[in-house]
Amino acid sequence: MSDGEPDGDYISPANQSYEYVIVGGGVHGTCVANYLLDEGGYDHEELCLVDPHERLLGSFETKARKCGMRTLRSTFVHHIDTEPFSLDSFAEGAHREHELVPTEDYPNRPTLDLFLDHARYVIDRRDIDACHHQSTVTDVTRTRHGLLRVDTPVGSLVARRVVLAVGLGGQLTVPSWATSLSDNARLAHVWDDDFDPTTAAAFDGRTFVVGGGITAAQLACRLSEDADVTLLSRHDFEVELTEADSRWINWRHIEQEIHSLPPGSAARCDRIRAARHDATIPPYIEHRLVDARDCGDLDVRHGEIECARASGDGLHLRFDDGTTATDAQVVLATGHDSAPKHPLVGALAESLSLERGANGFPVLDDRTLAWQRSDGTDSALYVSGALAEMSVGPFARNVVGARRAAERLLDSRDSVDSKAVAPPSRGRS
Ligand SMILES: Cc1cc2nc3c(=O)[nH]c(=O)nc-3n(C[C@H](O)[C@H](O)[C@H](O)COP(=O)(O)OP(=O)(O)OC[C@H]3O[C@@H](n4cnc5c(N)ncnc54)[C@H](O)[C@@H]3O)c2cc1C
Repeated sequence: MSDGEPDGDYISPANQSYEYVIVGGGVHGTCVANYLLDEGGYDHEELCLVDPHERLLGSFETKARKCGMRTLRSTFVHHIDTEPFSLDSFAEGAHREHELVPTEDYPNRPTLDLFLDHARYVIDRRDIDACHHQSTVTDVTRTRHGLLRVDTPVGSLVARRVVLAVGLGGQLTVPSWATSLSDNARLAHVWDDDFDPTTAAAFDGRTFVVGGGITAAQLACRLSEDADVTLLSRHDFEVELTEADSRWINWRHIEQEIHSLPPGSAARCDRIRAARHDATIPPYIEHRLVDARDCGDLDVRHGEIECARASGDGLHLRFDDGTTATDAQVVLATGHDSAPKHPLVGALAESLSLERGANGFPVLDDRTLAWQRSDGTDSALYVSGALAEMSVGPFARNVVGARRAAERLLDSRDSVDSKAVAPPSRGRS
């Protein structure tokens, strides 16, 4: 690079930097890229979307299919496009209105296939794949010219701004009784790369699905179509239609309820936790559970596994009520680490001197979603997704949270550009 940077391999051509590098090509990263290309007026050469998956949204699709999800929990206006009725028009144009599923006291919800096909349509229409660089970001540092250097194992990129859209934390949550089992024991986590529900459903013994939320419930229903399944939960299944009250979609409500509290404070975390209906299932999943149970395909049990050991081809399990099971397999649907535990969060906070608040969440500028430096000024690193929860509220990780974050980023772009001494070049600098 000609700006006097340290030696190293750069992926972007010499003297050129991206306007935005987006880290993560899931629902959030792809939605942000679409907004920047469409409403932001950026060209493809100005954006780079770094994600290790072969296809954008690959992580979401894999998870949704693994747990047997049939329909989205969110409504037909929540998707990755800029126009609210884009998915509705897409369904109509493709004669797929029947895939907008009516839901009592709630707008229609798309099937998973319709949601994904619409996302693919948006990606193809804007050729967002042209911005996709298949790799993993390992660090972001500041160049001596005030730009950001984004490191990947195959070289570095330079950007004016970086958007962090990496989803939830890196590690899967595994209960302590499971940690001593060998790798080849009949134990899997639904989000393990090599977990295959078809193989799991072919197991001869009883399958215990462990978890108390929507993923566990859907997975248990899916596996019970072919196998003997017990859904094991610590608590009764609570029923809620959505992840939070719909008022939390409204930015003014978020300003009043969240932004009025000190940035990065525990009080913000508490208010968001109280507003989120975590570990709940919507009524239509409850109906699926009841149907499967009434047909004798599924057993629902309260309690916990206390210890497990490999025995023959399966597991010998002991439960907290003293009962046991043999020839069993266990599939965990116990989630991920919290978002701030993603390894990049700590690395970036350190290399760019960024502020972290309660529970390790990034402290953001509520208006722009710029991660603040320790000295209180805005960095050029922006955040979308679960990591932005302290500013975007209880729906931050959801599809609608991606739309809210994209809107903020476009606003922030305008305010950063208007603050610049000289007008920034619209092409690469
Ligand atoms: C099964 C399931 C169903 C859901 N259903 C709904 C629903 O109906 N409605 C709703 O609103 N929300 C739903 N959600 C919640 C939310 O919308 C999804 O979790 C969504 O995938 C979040 O998008 P994301 O982009 O933040 O994360 P992800 O989709 O996980 O994408 C993050 C991406 O970042 C990549 N990444 C991570 N680290 C790096 C790195 N260092 N460098 C480069 N890339 C990196 C990952 O590989 C991944 O591809 C659901 C979630 C799940 C798991």
